[in-house]
Amino acid sequence: MGHIDWAALRSEAISAMHKAYAPYSNFPVGAAALTDDGRIVSGCNVENASYGLGLCAECSLVSALTMSGGGTLVAFTCVDGNENTLMPCGRCRQLLFEHSAPGMILDTVSGMKTIDEVIPDAFGPRTLEIFREGVPDDPANDTTCEGCQ
Ligand SMILES: [Zn+2]
Repeated sequence: MGHIDWAALRSEAISAMHKAYAPYSNFPVGAAALTDDGRIVSGCNVENASYGLGLCAECSLVSALTMSGGGTLVAFTCVDGNENTLMPCGRCRQLLFEHSAPGMILDTVSGMKTIDEVIPDAFGPRTLEIFREGVPDDPANDTTCEGCQ
């Protein structure tokens, strides 16, 4: 994974926070992450007059990841309007998990933590893969034609 420049990540998160569109909550949020190929992607929250449609900073960060070439996230930080460290909400931990590199590190309010520590036993792509491959003991998953054996 190499050296992680946390100061640079934090600076990007602060810069993103200043771009936030948060006229309803007045709670701007900025997030930044390092990708497995060394890019930095960032995002800010974008609210909506229909409050429930507001997007967290992690939403635009994950979109930026995909739009800039994909890959996985190896390090992440998030700040509030006072430039203090902020935890991703539950939904966003799931969003980050989907795009995390194994062992992804997050700068959290209680220190550096891995993605598995902030969303333990997560449901994710690997869960779906295992199920798609079929449960061996379940005859319902046996799609082999008897005549072909
Ligand atoms: Zn969130």
